[in-house]
Amino acid sequence: MKMLISGILMESAETFPVINPANEEIIASAPQCSRGMLDDAFSAAETAFESWSRDIHVRRDVLTACAAAMRDNADELARLVTQEQGKPLAKAQREIGGAARWFEYTAELDLPVEPITVPGQRRAEIHRRPLGVVAAIIPWNYPIMTAAWKIAPALLAGNTVVLKPSPYTPLATLRLGEILRPHIPEGVLNIVSGGDDLGVWMTAHKTPRKIAFTGSTDAGKSVAAAAANDLKRVTLELGGNDPAIVLADADPKTVANGIFTAAFENSGQVCVAIKRVYLPDNLYQPVLDEMTALANNVKLGDGLNEDVDMGPVNNRAQFERVLELIEDSRQRGGAVIAGGKRKGDTGYFIEPTIITDLADDARLVAEEQFGPALPILRYSDIDDALARANAGHFGLAGSVWGADGDSAAEVAGKLNCGTAWVNQHLAITPQAPIAGRKWSGVGIENGPLGLLQYTDLQIVEVPETQAATA
Ligand code: NAD
Repeated sequence: MKMLISGILMESAETFPVINPANEEIIASAPQCSRGMLDDAFSAAETAFESWSRDIHVRRDVLTACAAAMRDNADELARLVTQEQGKPLAKAQREIGGAARWFEYTAELDLPVEPITVPGQRRAEIHRRPLGVVAAIIPWNYPIMTAAWKIAPALLAGNTVVLKPSPYTPLATLRLGEILRPHIPEGVLNIVSGGDDLGVWMTAHKTPRKIAFTGSTDAGKSVAAAAANDLKRVTLELGGNDPAIVLADADPKTVANGIFTAAFENSGQVCVAIKRVYLPDNLYQPVLDEMTALANNVKLGDGLNEDVDMGPVNNRAQFERVLELIEDSRQRGGAVIAGGKRKGDTGYFIEPTIITDLADDARLVAEEQFGPALPILRYSDIDDALARANAGHFGLAGSVWGADGDSAAEVAGKLNCGTAWVNQHLAITPQAPIAGRKWSGVGIENGPLGLLQYTDLQIVEVPETQAATA
């Protein structure tokens, strides 16, 4: 695999290995971008900006062509995602299809010119102008989807991009660069690969005017600090610890199915996965029983095998962290109702795990586990459940489940998080913005509001004394 810099596919002197989490074998090596190559990528993006920012119609056509190219190469990209990330092939296919859909949706968006009324001005308008070069940094859980969430709006708004995938999952993203290369003018999109150091160099670099970052809260804070020095714009999509609250009138089987799916999707490695569940006294046992049965039925295995429901955790560090959280839960008196251990002795497989009887300050409850281990908590009073759900540093998403959608929506509105779902979770679409609160993020991604984050305002004013010429 090669990097895409200034329209040229580039190798590098140094490389790093990429591991398949299902068997711990090296799949391939990825180029390690040097500082000089990063300079070249930013310089290419800077040079390409002027002509790229001129015509939104050209940009729409490019995004549409990119979406078609992604769909044409979906099988190959999906296979790479499964091999380096771990998710089952059918889900990797859905990731590629989703990423193409994001490009298609974004291609239709507008950069509106908004007239305003200002005394003394004949014309006063708010325009949205591109920022320049965007540095985009993404994580390993959805390599192609998170890339699309940044590339599509950044480019439509008229910016150029240098994007870095996670060192755990660079292959599909590098291949995406090769696939998109014939459809994008030289320098408009550059894809470089390397470790966390490369991310640090990107955020410290003088060229980008914006850092679009998705990843952990700790890294996000470093990115914000680095960007502050140059007053670069930032969008930070960070961690979450999403609560799901079940109301006393819910149907146990229906909510158990919905909650289980949204907690264990992608082996729990989703920023907006359900990470804590609050069950009312009357439904505690029935919902727990349903969820336990679901956990015991999961087919865990290599995502390339067709009958697999759930793949491994992506990397050794995350695998060890999730096992450590399970062990910590045991030591605190938690009851492991399902799963609770590694499966096999090769590959980063962890059984879907359900743990009860934990206090609110247990690590599995208070921290973001980002893996297949779910704490189930009990409540007697809905205000108490809300207070506990709203405690802590995160505020990404949450959900409330009940027989009556409107009453559930009223409770959901009291969750202190950016997205409050009713009788669903993980219902992410290109249209709806995502905007994490507290330590879950800064700024907005997706939808028309997400697009505007790749622009600066420009107010254009013409005084009344200046007569119109036509
Ligand atoms: P991570 O923060 O370790 O790495 C993310 C990316 O940032 C990688 O490309 C990494 O190389 C780079 N990086 C790391 N340190 C950096 C630094 N100091 N400066 C610049 N770049 C740096 O995160 P991860 O482990 O890859 O991903 C998991 C995390 O991502 C979870 O916390 C998850 O919740 C979060 N996430 C959030 C969203 C969202 O939209 N809110 C989506 C997906 C994942």
